Amino acid sequence: MIIFSGGTGTPKLLNGLREVCPEEDITVVVNTAEDVWISGNLITPDIDTVLYLFSGKLDTSRWWGVKGDTYRTHETMKELGHNEVMMLGDLDRATHIMRSDLIRNGMTLSEAIVELCRSFGLKINVLPMSDDPVSSMITTPEGKMHFQDFWVGEHGEPDVLEVCQEGIGNASISPAVLKALEKEDEVLIGPSNPITSIGPIIELPGMRDILRTKKVVAVSPIIGTEPVSGPAGKLMTARGIEVSSYGVASYYSDFLDHLVIDERDPIDEKRFEEFDMGVSRADTLMKSVDVSRELSSTILGIFRDI
Ligand code: GDP
Repeated sequence: MIIFSGGTGTPKLLNGLREVCPEEDITVVVNTAEDVWISGNLITPDIDTVLYLFSGKLDTSRWWGVKGDTYRTHETMKELGHNEVMMLGDLDRATHIMRSDLIRNGMTLSEAIVELCRSFGLKINVLPMSDDPVSSMITTPEGKMHFQDFWVGEHGEPDVLEVCQEGIGNASISPAVLKALEKEDEVLIGPSNPITSIGPIIELPGMRDILRTKKVVAVSPIIGTEPVSGPAGKLMTARGIEVSSYGVASYYSDFLDHLVIDERDPIDEKRFEEFDMGVSRADTLMKSVDVSRELSSTILGIFRDI
């Protein structure tokens, strides 16, 4: 199965999926539009969350970074007057340095991630969505800024006037992702931010056409009128998409076969009748690995039925 992922909601699901599905059968296509160069190294936050999850290194209290990490390099640079927008841990930085060195020596991002997967001893396939630079840019009343400056630097506080993915028109789906999509028929869109995590993947030129030929199941990251976490609500509103599982369905409606919404979601299911897709309910609030495992089994059952 291929899973489209950002860096929090979908990794929570992957944490359960790996207990009901052999790791070698899991291919994760990861958003790269939040990637950014900091202090000379390429930071790929969503990819690293997946790498750390499967290698047992992830700090699952935050769903980013390496557990037990220290911040001595970050703090020392701060004392010297070099402020990094993101808190980068010392152990985490080792991954960034290694990846960036591989890229500086001529590898594509995809090739560098294959190398890191090998170093971490992973059986799953972690594929960056593209080897071309794409950046989620947020326009606020103070001006246009990179997603990381908005979310980490400004704590997501400014009003959002517009969201765009710079570079998307000229970016290609990575060759490894294209190959995986040729072989696999089932695509799961995890409960990640539809605008800045899943949006960049599905807006890559040609991706929606490919998805229309696949069995696609998605899990809504929105329960009622609120995302479970993060800025998805603000960003969906800026794009003119209703902040609800209906809004998620409308954004994916041209290719989606089935949407899983939360059992607590008060939405009237009749609203989905205008779309050509199945809708079912489950506990999608992944407060524990047990919930993630149960949800994963439900999803495998849905794929068998469509
Ligand atoms: P990012 O890369 O850190 O922004 O992470 P993602 O885009 O992968 O995850 C953020 C999205 O995941 C938000 O829109 C949340 O609403 C959603 N999310 C986080 N945890 C859960 C959960 O337990 N259940 C569901 N349904 N959605 C979740």
